[in-house]
Amino acid sequence: TVAIVLFTADLRVHDHPPLRAALSSSDEVVPLFVHDAAIEAAGFAAPNRRAFLSDCLTDLDEALRDRGGRLVVRSGSTTEEVCRVAGEVDAHEVHMAAGVSRFALLREARLRQALASAGRRLRVHDAVTTVLPPGEVTPAGRDHFAVFTPYFRRWSQVFPRSPLAAPGAVRVPSDVASEDLLSRRSVTGVSEGLATGGETEGRKRVTAWWRACLAAYEDRHDDLAGDATSRLSPHLHFGTLSPAELVHRARKAGGAGAEAFVRQLCWRDFHHQVLAARPTAAVADYRPQHDRWRSGRAASQEIAAWKEGRTGYPVVDAAMRQLSHEGWMHNRGRLLAASFLTKTLYVDWRIGARHFLDLLVDGDIANNQLNWQWMAGTGTDSRPNRVLNPVLQGKRYDPDGAYVRRWVPELDGIAGAAVHEPWKLPAPERARYDYPDPVVSLAEGRDRFQRARGRAD
Ligand code: FAD
Repeated sequence: TVAIVLFTADLRVHDHPPLRAALSSSDEVVPLFVHDAAIEAAGFAAPNRRAFLSDCLTDLDEALRDRGGRLVVRSGSTTEEVCRVAGEVDAHEVHMAAGVSRFALLREARLRQALASAGRRLRVHDAVTTVLPPGEVTPAGRDHFAVFTPYFRRWSQVFPRSPLAAPGAVRVPSDVASEDLLSRRSVTGVSEGLATGGETEGRKRVTAWWRACLAAYEDRHDDLAGDATSRLSPHLHFGTLSPAELVHRARKAGGAGAEAFVRQLCWRDFHHQVLAARPTAAVADYRPQHDRWRSGRAASQEIAAWKEGRTGYPVVDAAMRQLSHEGWMHNRGRLLAASFLTKTLYVDWRIGARHFLDLLVDGDIANNQLNWQWMAGTGTDSRPNRVLNPVLQGKRYDPDGAYVRRWVPELDGIAGAAVHEPWKLPAPERARYDYPDPVVSLAEGRDRFQRARGRAD
């Protein structure tokens, strides 16, 4: 018998329940990846993620070859391609990981129906891309948690399953045709400092970061210049690492750093369970606020300044330049950049979320859209009107100004925290720096936002 394992956001061989189940139910498996035309048509296949994906597929193919198998790659509609391959090898079942977005749920439903009409079965595995499946813990009378802390409490009481080892051997039928693997060199428009993808790289990163930074994670995760967070987000997005395995390891390690890290992984599950229950939150306000955001046209110059990292607020500009250069941004930078766009400039969160999705290597519908909504005050934040002050936040999370000087080199002649307020320099000194004045005053931005929302926080 032959089974197909359809890889989606789970590009790994370690702790992979669909692969494990297929290998135990069948003599041979076809590990399959489909470049879905719909993802490309929706503009979701941004260059940074395509380049990272190329690394992931190459690495997955190598891992399978080491075990006597290989990866089969096709392009087109996932349903059509899976059914085609199933027909070619007469597969009796297809295994895949459960998804949470509207796209993933539709893909699953279509596939189940198409396979059933040919007498084949779809087996969907939970807790592959998240630690707990959405809906596993719920508050009384509701289908999901809308507040993080009670979710975290309940989530923490469930110990995830033990991680599965990578399989020893994978037998693939010899006569299944595959396209060439996507080559990273063929992808254009990639950020210069983009990280390398793939499970091997992800596992190396875990080992190195664990040793160097886990113990101090709680104290250092907000330190912009220290850059001491795990940078595992793209690996979690593409599933080259298993979140359940990370939680398992961290809980075993114990300590304040490990606990704080597990809490962040819980935020990821939290947003996934919100999106699974409310798929419209990807595009519409989760909690309507009746905002009349400034139109993209009215605010076009400010939006352009924000995207290009020349708002005149050094820490916001540093964060936006890190995003263009690396396709990744520190979490504190993301919070500041999002607060600035939505609250100081009063621009619709969807404009910012779209820009992030165009560049972020970890760009993810659940995490991106719901974090944007959290910061815009339309999501799950219990203080929806909070406004982050980029000067105070800069001084607090980049006290020496090193993060700003790293990403905004025009300002690297200004020592220490003074770099957060170049407008305060004496005029002759200020004139030496080719750096813009603030696009708007913070007081003006805050007043406009608070007037619009009708109250202060
Ligand atoms: P670490 O601090 O090492 O945390 C470990 C892991 O926990 C992360 O890899 C991530 O998977 C998860 N995590 C941490 N913080 C959050 C959070 N607030 N929400 C959900 N998961 C979290 N994260 C994405 O993965 N993709 C996105 O598209 C994305 N967009 C964001 C947009 C905005 C406006 C904001 C404020 C945050 C966004 N985040 C997103 C969440 C967070 O910023 C990143 O996950 C984190 O910066 C990744 O860095 P790290 O891997 O070093 O994180």
